[in-house]
Order: sequence, then structure tokens, then C-alpha cells
Amino acid sequence: MSKSIDFQGAVVLITGGSRGLGLAQAAAFKATGAQVAITARDPDTLEQACETLDAAPGLAVRAYAHDMRDHAGVGALVDRIEQEVGAIQSLVNNAGVHLKKPVWDVAFDEWNNVVDINLTGVFTMTREVLRHMVPRKAGSIVNISSMGGLMALPSATAYVTTKTALIGFTRSVAVDAGAHSIRCNAVCPGFIDTEMTRKVLAGDPARSTKIRGRIPMPRLGQGEDIANACVFLCSEMASYINGQSLAIDGGYSIGF
Ligand code: NAP
Repeated sequence: MSKSIDFQGAVVLITGGSRGLGLAQAAAFKATGAQVAITARDPDTLEQACETLDAAPGLAVRAYAHDMRDHAGVGALVDRIEQEVGAIQSLVNNAGVHLKKPVWDVAFDEWNNVVDINLTGVFTMTREVLRHMVPRKAGSIVNISSMGGLMALPSATAYVTTKTALIGFTRSVAVDAGAHSIRCNAVCPGFIDTEMTRKVLAGDPARSTKIRGRIPMPRLGQGEDIANACVFLCSEMASYINGQSLAIDGGYSIGF
């Protein structure tokens, strides 16, 4: 086999890397030798994440407090990471928020907030990172969509809309950036055991039972199930995979 999963010294930027799926991604990339930079809003959680991650062997993780809604500031953030950590080889657009409400109860500001973080934030981050990657003609991007990008979920219109749009965004970036040997793919996690899922299912045992009953495999997903796919998609092993959206959901979206 001529290709391998080896990120020795390669810089990987993970948005929303302070907890949940992003934290698992940071651990998985670090385990392959990557120099990882993580972003999130809360500095305390970022600091805790660094402590957790740095307990494992490898290069120290760098944390950057950043709000995905700060579109004007993202260029300076990416410049800073390139200067302080190095040329970004891979970007995982992981940061995202959920909103559990039927569409008729969604306020204008609530809708805009989800779009601002889950979609516009991914656009601005991707654009700024690509401005560095394109002249180097190298790089890979993974967008964290959702099973909600592949099918409707109840009381999640804003979320489902942004996660569906991310699949089109992924294909479109893959076409433009692919010409410069940069790949862009998406993963669509099913129900993964994180704080976001626990909040969505809290106080809703009927929904929880329905979800568990529909997963062909007898468990919720774990962060590392998604993280391993991100590492693979960013690696040389996936060197001709571009513009794809991979469901990682224990079979939820293909079975009943
Ligand atoms: P989580 O536990 O709530 O973590 C979200 C991360 O994003 C945190 O690091 C959070 O840090 C950061 N974040 C949130 N809002 C932000 C903002 N405005 N600016 C910058 N960072 C922000 O969520 P998760 O479950 O790990 O989900 C991660 C991604 O996977 C999301 O895109 C989600 O939609 C997707 N996903 C999750 C599941 C699942 O079952 N968990 C399923 C499908 C898809 P701060 O709050 O400190 O900013």
C-alpha cells in the first residue's frame, strides 16, 4: 500500500474543537501526528480541551477563541494561525448549533443565528482558509453536515436547512478547489452521544425511544466514529474522494 494516514507535523484546524465531536476530531488528528489548532467561543472550555488533549503524546494543541459569527474577523484569525502554527493542511468545519422548535415558533433572530453559525460561518472560514491553500495547491476540507442534511428531522427546520445547504456548499467548493488539488467532502453524522444530542433529547423520552429504535446498530454513535472518518477523508488515503457526503449513522438513513 503506497499511501497511509500520517499527519506528522501537518497543521489541522478544527472549528468547535473544544468539546463533543470537535474534541474527538482533535484527539484523532493529534494521534496521527498532526499539529492541531482548535477554535470555539468559551475560553475556559478551550483551556480544558487543551489540557485533555495535551495529556496524550504529540505536539501541544493551540486554542483560539473565535465566534463563527465574527465574519469580519475570520481573515485575521486564519492569518494568525498560519503565522503561529503553520500552513493549514486540513480544515474541519465542525462548529454548529441546533435549534429545536417547530418552524412556526422560530423567531427571525433565532433563524438568522443558526444560519450565521452553521452556514455563513462555514463559508467565511472556508473562503479565508482557501485563500491560503489555493496558492499552495494542496489541502483538504471536511464539513460536518448531519443526517438532517439527508432527511427531515422534526422541529429542526433551521438546522436541517443549513445542514442540507452544506452538502451543496461542499459539492460547489469541491468543483472550484478541486482544480487546485484541494478536496472538500462532508460527513453526515447520525445521533452521536454528545452534549448537543443530550440537550435535543432531554425531556423527550418518546423521541429518544423512536431514534434508538430506528438505528440498525444497537447504540448511538461515539465521537470517534465521526473523527476517524474526518481523519480518513483528509488523508492521502482519500486522495481521489472529492465532493462527497458520507453518512455515519449506524445505518439510520438507509434502514427502517
Ligand atoms: P457541541 O457538543 O454542542 O459542540 C459544539 C462546538 O461548537 C463547541 O466547541 C462550541 O463551543 C462550538 N460553537 C458553538 N457555537 C459557536 C460559535 N458561534 N462560534 C464558534 N464556535 C461555536 O456539538 P456537537 O454535538 O459536538 O456537534 C458538532 C457538529 O456536529 C455540529 O456542527 C453539529 O451540527 C454536528 N452534528 C452533531 C450530531 C450529534 O449527534 N451530536 C449529529 C449530526 C451533526 P462554544 O460554545 O464555546 O463556542
